Amino acid sequence: MTARYGIIGWPLGHTLSPALHNWGFGRLGVDARYDAFPLEPGGLPAFLDRVRTGEILGLSVTIPHKRAVMPLLDRITDRARRVGAVNTLFRDGDALCGENTDVIGVVAPLRRLASLPASALVLGAGGAARAAVAGLLELGVADVAVANRTPDKAAALAVDFGVRAVAWEARMDEPFGLICNTTPLGMAGALEGRSPWDADRFPEGCVAYDIVYNPLETRFLREAAAAGCAAVSGLEMFLHQGLAQFRLWTGRDMDEDGARRLLLDALAARPAA
Ligand code: NAP
Repeated sequence: MTARYGIIGWPLGHTLSPALHNWGFGRLGVDARYDAFPLEPGGLPAFLDRVRTGEILGLSVTIPHKRAVMPLLDRITDRARRVGAVNTLFRDGDALCGENTDVIGVVAPLRRLASLPASALVLGAGGAARAAVAGLLELGVADVAVANRTPDKAAALAVDFGVRAVAWEARMDEPFGLICNTTPLGMAGALEGRSPWDADRFPEGCVAYDIVYNPLETRFLREAAAAGCAAVSGLEMFLHQGLAQFRLWTGRDMDEDGARRLLLDALAARPAA
């Protein structure tokens, strides 16, 4: 019988996840399919029963279910507990388990840098920022700071993770080794022309990491590269969070280069927002 996987969220806009996972299943000859399941918040408990009975073997979880799903699970990984959000459901025997592969996704391209930056600034204090901070701490970055337009949220995140908060207005004043944008500034649509950083304020030799991946090259990354900084695209985070999900579900590795090409082609084929 064809194994079933999918993504739950509400509203569930266009997502590249079905293309990624279905391609992976096809390439490895796994008899499985991955579907999009738009799911209103009230429908979560009943939907999880379909996973408990084995009708569906694993799920990607997106807004607004990432936190709400946690009390409904049998087991949550330490990583997901630290972030306070689950983006992946998988089964371990009869147990329904939650993991956060966004953290794995954030970290993967940073592991490939020639050297680990000693300090990092995360811009934003939402769900993606929590994954980024957790990832940077997992990597062992010694000095992690967070800056957010709404200061109270940065302060709360800083307390949760034991990192420091920096005033939004003062974010460009320190020479951070890594600057990670987790705000939607620069993403396709009304915010596309915007950047959270001034073009002439990038610290020398810093790494600029934008978790926005549509467009592939945001203004933030373009200006960072022009200033001589290394630029890391959010597509790497998306790719690696997906590869980690696939591994949890199938125990197998998707062809990384092929999957990256697939995502690049899919993004290139998207109509402009
Ligand atoms: P979220 O929880 O809504 O948080 C958004 C954050 O951005 C908040 O801190 C918010 O600040 C800040 N922000 C929003 N508009 C801003 C503006 N005009 N100026 C300055 N700050 C602004 O969202 P999220 O789930 O963290 O997602 C954030 C972004 O990450 C989205 O673009 C999403 O597509 C992307 N993402 C990418 C991946 C990937 O795989 N690459 C994965 C997850 C998310 P306030 O607190 O002041 O509102």
